[in-house]
Amino acid sequence: MAIARSVAIIGGGIGGLTLANCLLRTGMSVSLYERSPCFIPTVGAGFSFQPNGQMCLAYMGFKDQTEKLVHPVYKWHLINDKGKVVNTTNNLSEYGKRFDFYEGGAIRAELIDILKEPLEKNHILHYSHKVIDIKQDIDGVEISFENALEQKPVRVDMLIGADGIHSKVVKQIFSQTAPPIYSKENVFYGIIDNIDQQTSLHPSIIQKNTLTQCLDYGEFISFRVGTRGQLMWAATYPSDVPPPSNNDSEWIEMNNQRELNRFLTLFPQTHPVHQCAAITDKRRLLHFGLFYRQHRNDNWHRNRVCLLGDSCHATLPYVGQGASMAIEDAIVLTLCLEKHNFQMESAFQDYYKIRFKRTKRVVDMSRYLGLFFHSQNPIVRAIRQRLAPKLMNSDMMIKIAERAMYDNCPIPLEYKRQFAK
Ligand SMILES: Cc1cc2nc3c(=O)[nH]c(=O)nc-3n(C[C@H](O)[C@H](O)[C@H](O)COP(=O)(O)OP(=O)(O)OC[C@H]3O[C@@H](n4cnc5c(N)ncnc54)[C@H](O)[C@@H]3O)c2cc1C
Repeated sequence: MAIARSVAIIGGGIGGLTLANCLLRTGMSVSLYERSPCFIPTVGAGFSFQPNGQMCLAYMGFKDQTEKLVHPVYKWHLINDKGKVVNTTNNLSEYGKRFDFYEGGAIRAELIDILKEPLEKNHILHYSHKVIDIKQDIDGVEISFENALEQKPVRVDMLIGADGIHSKVVKQIFSQTAPPIYSKENVFYGIIDNIDQQTSLHPSIIQKNTLTQCLDYGEFISFRVGTRGQLMWAATYPSDVPPPSNNDSEWIEMNNQRELNRFLTLFPQTHPVHQCAAITDKRRLLHFGLFYRQHRNDNWHRNRVCLLGDSCHATLPYVGQGASMAIEDAIVLTLCLEKHNFQMESAFQDYYKIRFKRTKRVVDMSRYLGLFFHSQNPIVRAIRQRLAPKLMNSDMMIKIAERAMYDNCPIPLEYKRQFAK
C-alpha cells in the first residue's frame, strides 16, 4: 500500500489552511498552493462560527486566538417585517455555558490570519499558484500550475483538493462529475462598521451578543462579528439566475447596485434590510448565488488524491456549518492518516466512512431549511410563523444542537472532557 510522506494541499480556504496546520504537526512535508496572490480581507466577510468548529481549533492549540476572534451570541431574536421582536430566547447560550464555546460571529479574514501564521513561518504557503492539471502514476502525483514559465510542476506522494465548490481537483480525478447545483436563491450580505455609532438602525438589530432573524421573506439574519464593533447582515432571495461573474471591481459594484435595487423591492419598506443596505459601504457588500454539491457516494478519493471541505460537500448557508465541516474534515483526515500509518487507501476510506453521514446531514438540512424559509405557499408560511417561535424556545433545539455540535464533533473524547464544565 502506498504511503504518504509529502503532501500538496490545493486551496488556502479555511479547510486547506486547517489541514496544513494539522499535517505539519505529524512531521509530513507539507506545501499549500493558493491561486490568489494574497488573502483579500473582504473575501467571505463575516460568518457564523459554530461551537464545534471552535472546539476543533481549540484542540489544535488555537483556543486563545479563536476566543478573541468571536463575538458570542447569547440571545436569539425573531423579528417581524417591521423590525419588532416577536419572540426571544436565551437558549443559544445554554450549550455555550456547558462547554465554553458559544455560537458567534467572526470575520473570515481574521480566522485566516490565525491559520496562515504558522504556515508562513514554515515557508510552506505558496500564493499565486493556480492548479490547472494533475497527473497520478504509481509513484506519485504531478501538479502543474498556470503560468508554467514561472511555476515548475511539483511532485508529491499525496494531494488534497481543498479548492472549494468549483473545485478543479474534482474534475481532474472523477470522469463523471455533476456540477454544483444552483438553489435558485441568491444572497446579499454586508458588513457595517462602527455599529455603536449607527443611529438609523432598528434597536433590535444592533444589540450586542444577539442573533436577529426574520423569516417572512427568505431569511434575513444579523449578528455582530469580530471584536471591533462590526455587524454582519445577510438576506437571501429567490432568483432564476446567479449573479454573473466578472473580475472588474467597477463592474461588480455597478451590477450589485442594480440588483440590490431590484432585491429591495421584494421587501416591504418597513423591513430592516432597507436600513442595513442604506448604511453599508458598497465595497463591503457581497452578492452570491447559493450553490450546493450533491454528495458522492463512491468515495471522495482516487488513488493518491482526496477531497476536503466544499470540494466534496458544499452546503447552503442556512445552518452556518460550512466552515466548521471543513475544519472537522481536516482533523478527521489527519487522525485517519496517523491511525493507518500514512497508508493512503485505507486512511481515505476510513475518512470517507466517518465524514459521509455527518456532512450529508448538514447539506440536506440546509437545503430543506432553504426551501422552508423561501416557500410562499400559504400553509407553509402559516406553519413557519407558528413553528419557529416554538422551536426556538424548546429544549428539543438545545438537545439537537448539543448532539450535533458536541457529541458528534470528531475530536477525541478526552479533549472534549477537558472543555466540558
Ligand atoms: C453566502 C455564504 C455564506 C456562508 N456563511 C457561512 C457561515 O455563516 N458559517 C459557515 O461556517 N460557513 C458559511 N459558508 C460556507 C463556508 O464559507 C465554506 O463552507 C467554507 O469556507 C469552506 O471552506 P473550503 O476551504 O472548503 O473552501 P473555500 O473557502 O472555498 O476555499 C477554497 C480555496 O481554494 C482556492 N482555489 C480554488 N481553485 C484553485 C486552484 N485551481 N488552484 C489553487 N487554489 C484554488 C480558492 O482561491 C480558495 O482560497 C457560507 C458560504 C456562502 C457562499
